[in-house]
Amino acid sequence: MTTQVKHYIDGEWVIGGSKQQIAITNPANNETIAMVNAALTSEVETAIASAKAAFKSWKEVPVSERARVMLNYQHLLKEQHDEIATILAQETGKTFEDAKGDVWRGIEVVEHACNIASMMMGETVENVARSIDTYSYTQPLGVCAGITPFNFPAMIPLWMFPLAVACGNTFVLKPSEQDPMTPQRLIELFEQAGAPKGVIQLVHGDKSAVDLVLRHPDIKAISFVGSVNVGQYIYKTATDNLKRVQVFAGAKNHCVIMPDANKQQVINNLVGASVGAAGQRCMALSVAVFVGAAKAWIPELKAAIAKVKPGLWDDKNAAYGPVISPAAKQRIVSLIAQGVAEGADCLLDGTDFTVAGYESGNWVGPTMFGSVTANMKIYQEEIFGPVLCCMNADTLDDAIEIVNASPYGNGTAIFTASGAAARKYQHEVEVGQVGVNVPIPVPLPFFSFTGWKGSFYGDQHAYGKQAVRFYSETKTITARWFESDLAVASAPNMTID
Ligand code: NAD
Repeated sequence: MTTQVKHYIDGEWVIGGSKQQIAITNPANNETIAMVNAALTSEVETAIASAKAAFKSWKEVPVSERARVMLNYQHLLKEQHDEIATILAQETGKTFEDAKGDVWRGIEVVEHACNIASMMMGETVENVARSIDTYSYTQPLGVCAGITPFNFPAMIPLWMFPLAVACGNTFVLKPSEQDPMTPQRLIELFEQAGAPKGVIQLVHGDKSAVDLVLRHPDIKAISFVGSVNVGQYIYKTATDNLKRVQVFAGAKNHCVIMPDANKQQVINNLVGASVGAAGQRCMALSVAVFVGAAKAWIPELKAAIAKVKPGLWDDKNAAYGPVISPAAKQRIVSLIAQGVAEGADCLLDGTDFTVAGYESGNWVGPTMFGSVTANMKIYQEEIFGPVLCCMNADTLDDAIEIVNASPYGNGTAIFTASGAAARKYQHEVEVGQVGVNVPIPVPLPFFSFTGWKGSFYGDQHAYGKQAVRFYSETKTITARWFESDLAVASAPNMTID
């Protein structure tokens, strides 16, 4: 019997009454492993109403008790770490190692949420005027919502709801319909950790469920992670409906390789950062800019990337798995064909790659282009597949100009032995997350995930202090107490009831 993924609405696990059924498939052979019903309008509305009702009591729960729920949750997540990673690997096709990383990066955010009391501390100034003090409190907003993509089904939901709930909000999560089994397990464990009824709601579905959330008057803030076009639509629609919004969208991340860099480190790091996880990472390095003589390393990089073998999630020798769907594979393959047609030098072509016994899976072998220029489609579009585009630049200034001309600004890296080159790059580059001899510079949760330009719309970013600001309001109180009342309060004949 096929597994049925459930919604979690008003404290109940329900299959839902919709006739719109979505199949969850194993990307290695496209066989159905589970089904999920898209939530009905009435189900999404019940979830939001339940979250609104729960907010009244949850916001009154002391911050240390809310932190204790997070402590329980991180303990349960660690205990169930491998089990969650197995579910995740089966529905995404990620290798087990990658799946474990996805879960672990989420757990780190929950660990950070355990420290919520210090993150919510306000500011005080005594005597802003004679006998008047000003102090601020951080208060929750109400019902917040999260809409998440397929590529990190554990980490990205965990970027959102633990911090939102720790701040005292309630939360409606609408995860990707392509891999909803992992989020279901995350929410089961959150309930076990002690989240009271109504505090967390899980609704599945696609655009129609999202559209309801974007327009619902009781949703105060929306966090979205996903593709560029959908992200822009979410930002425009939700802000039009006067919501607080943060949108983390697509990317095209450049890596600059200086000729003084450690060649072996460059090659080792670039292999994993470009085609690892089948390139389905918003921080994947998909463009390598070789400065000056560094271009002589391209043949060695090609030889290293050619050795990378995709495979099944439980194959310990597999470097990465299939891409998520036949549609994703089709898109990648047609972009590769377009790269060839536009005159890029196709050094490796993974179009026909397959795994014996799993020929119907969404496999794309490691692919590499040389002599890529900025006018090519393979350069302009986020391919979101295991495809590395190599470009050449004469100087560091030229490389910076290339990177800064990109409409995206999620992540970048420079490989160099020169502190001066690294300093210049980190200072001048218009990208929000910079690695210096570090290929995928995803900040740990005590910082924030700070994409820029077309990779991010909003102002407060994910996790860290910025997320606490995003999921809360600041209330500033200016108070004055009269000395004359002190005389009354301390009078000897004062009675206390
Ligand atoms: P997607 O945009 O297709 O879907 C994301 C979410 O939006 C899903 O929950 C989906 O159901 C919903 N959705 C899809 N179409 C919609 C529509 N027309 N209207 C309303 N909602 C809609 O993204 P994806 O393919 O699941 O994820 C991959 C993308 O996510 C890549 O572009 C990647 O770069 C991006 N991403 C960005 C970051 C970041 O931090 N910047 C992190 C991870 C992924």
